[in-house]
Amino acid sequence: MESRGVSPSYATYNHLLQACMDAKSLNHGLKLHEHLISKTSIRLPLQIKVKLVKLYCVCGEINKARQLFDEIPQPDCRCWAAMINAYSKYGYPNESLKLYSDMKFKNGIQPDKFILLAVAKACSMLSDLVKAKEIHEDAERFCPSSILVKNALIDLYGKCGCMHGASLIFNKLPEKDVISWTSMIVGLVQCGHWEDALQLFSKMVLAGVQPNSVTISSVLAACSSLLDLNLGRIIHGYVIRIGIEDNVLVSGALIDMYAKCLNVLHARRLFDISPQRDVVSWNVICAAYLQSGEVEKAIQLFQEMKSLEAITNVASWNVMISGCAQNGETVTATELFEQMVHEGVKPNHITIASFLPALSSIESRRGRELHSYCFRHCFIEDTIVATAVISMYANCGSLNIALKVFNEMLERDTISWNVVIRAYAMHGYGMEALAVFQKMQKMGVRPNAGTFAGVLSACSHAGLVEEGYRFFHSMSMYHGLVPDADHYASMVDILSRAGLLNDAYLFIQNMPVKATASSWGALLGACRVYKNINLGKIAARYLFQIEPDNPGNYILLANMYIALGMSEDALNMRKLMRNRGIEKTPGCSWVQVRGQIYTFVAGDKSHVQKGKIYAYLHELNDKMKLAGYLPDTRFALADVDFEEKEEVLGYHSEKLAVAYALLNTESASTICIFKNIRICGDCHNAMKFLSDITGVRITIRDSIRFHHFSNGFCSCQDFW
Ligand code: ZN
Ligand code: ZN
Repeated sequence: MESRGVSPSYATYNHLLQACMDAKSLNHGLKLHEHLISKTSIRLPLQIKVKLVKLYCVCGEINKARQLFDEIPQPDCRCWAAMINAYSKYGYPNESLKLYSDMKFKNGIQPDKFILLAVAKACSMLSDLVKAKEIHEDAERFCPSSILVKNALIDLYGKCGCMHGASLIFNKLPEKDVISWTSMIVGLVQCGHWEDALQLFSKMVLAGVQPNSVTISSVLAACSSLLDLNLGRIIHGYVIRIGIEDNVLVSGALIDMYAKCLNVLHARRLFDISPQRDVVSWNVICAAYLQSGEVEKAIQLFQEMKSLEAITNVASWNVMISGCAQNGETVTATELFEQMVHEGVKPNHITIASFLPALSSIESRRGRELHSYCFRHCFIEDTIVATAVISMYANCGSLNIALKVFNEMLERDTISWNVVIRAYAMHGYGMEALAVFQKMQKMGVRPNAGTFAGVLSACSHAGLVEEGYRFFHSMSMYHGLVPDADHYASMVDILSRAGLLNDAYLFIQNMPVKATASSWGALLGACRVYKNINLGKIAARYLFQIEPDNPGNYILLANMYIALGMSEDALNMRKLMRNRGIEKTPGCSWVQVRGQIYTFVAGDKSHVQKGKIYAYLHELNDKMKLAGYLPDTRFALADVDFEEKEEVLGYHSEKLAVAYALLNTESASTICIFKNIRICGDCHNAMKFLSDITGVRITIRDSIRFHHFSNGFCSCQDFW
């Protein structure tokens, strides 16, 4: 056209721009725009500008679109709608709402159907109920009869969690289409009203409205949440009848339903025959295997998924890593994490937060690496990640680093405060924990049930009975919280540790909740310390009922008998264990030396350095005896095996671990040891002497708590 010297008309440009818009071709659009500017000395006509705004909106060039939009003196409704829509579509719903306000109040424009739809969408992304009500009013005024807008409002109220508002509109609808029903059902499911959603679904079917894939996937999600496999099956049958089982959304929801209801086999069968498997359904099956403890199958499937279709996403890795971690497969979880990073998949804060707790068992080296990884990639600014890092350090025994991370946090939520309170309490610093609690309240952070769990545990470690009662009562009186079984157990613990054993027993009897193993366990532990065998027997009897397979309870009671010289009863305890087929968990300790983890069991003779370790232990033993240490052989009798002698006692796993660490780390000021079962009385005593003789701080985390030994004392003040 141009080559013949004829300048194209604006109408032609208009057509061309429309073509670009249909094809979403930004490049051609930009060229046309340049062309127009170069050809036209005067300003572009309104019609063309509007077209360009829409084109830029469609192509996601929001800033360019807005620039042009602002140049238009009086944009029409379509233009406003396009601009409002574009903002929320590309992730700026706040801008959409702002523009909507400008439109109404600065420009005095009344919204039409399309503008209302666009702004409702933006508002639902923000779940802003106040704005939602404003939009609802506008809709009533300016667009009272559009079912499209009404459906959008139902959806909007649902997203804002206001099902009351949604049902007001829904019930008044003269005619309800599939979208109205579906919006209502989706809202109910999202708000956790699963039964109501299912009821409405049956009403919908009775009313003769055929559900679509969104309706079906929503009601299936309700079945999953209710773990109602039967109803799920009925809906499955219905899905087959109406012939939408191959829809990817529906088949994914079916697989999810079977998986969540723990029918992994059926889920897998559906998955195998499903014509379109998306990454979500792969993830669901992997998660289902992991949830039912079939780690190997999950890994197999995950490898298949990677090799077959290369559709793994971050969520797939997260499913695998957190699943393995929850199954105690720390090493596999770690390997997966490394593989993930190696393959160039960027972990997100969920990956990190689900992976860190797995490291809390022993691996402070890996934890530290991960911490620096978070730091390099700015994840540490994420509250969830930072909190997981704090918890990891606290659980690994590095309370100081945990506190440092906490102090450097930009934003702290209730959970992060809770973790620090708990960390202090777990390490035996009750007063410090309470100080943190006070600071938390001063900063206006609302405590939750978890906060009080930490606070009560702090009271018990610090021996603060009155304060414990006060905090316990304040939960319901001032904070609107109902104490649960754990809080009650903490109160039992507080009373027990303070030696108020009868009060503790009375408290258990008057509790409105059923006493758990933690309550009776706290009482039994205290009975051992305060040598109250009668109450100890009662507590043990309950414990044998609640957790008949836990060897710790039998051993604790046997220990008590022995300490009181009742060796016959102790032997009977041993017999009872044998008759019930309960085996003592072998004592096992870990220590980390130069980045390597070394494991020891009692009387371990397998270690390469065994000669050196045992010789060194003898040497230490002699020094300790000179300082006044007396081996308490009673614990050898009860704790290891009734027939074994002092020899074995001297070689309890934590003693071997300490000797190894002392031998192999020069100038280390702290040694940190992890133990799978409760430390015995003799080892506890020996550690106090060792810390005094060597001048090294020894930290032992047993199955109950942390013990920090230094200068001949333990942070638990001999109560554990
Ligand atoms: Zn021991
Ligand atoms: Zn201790």
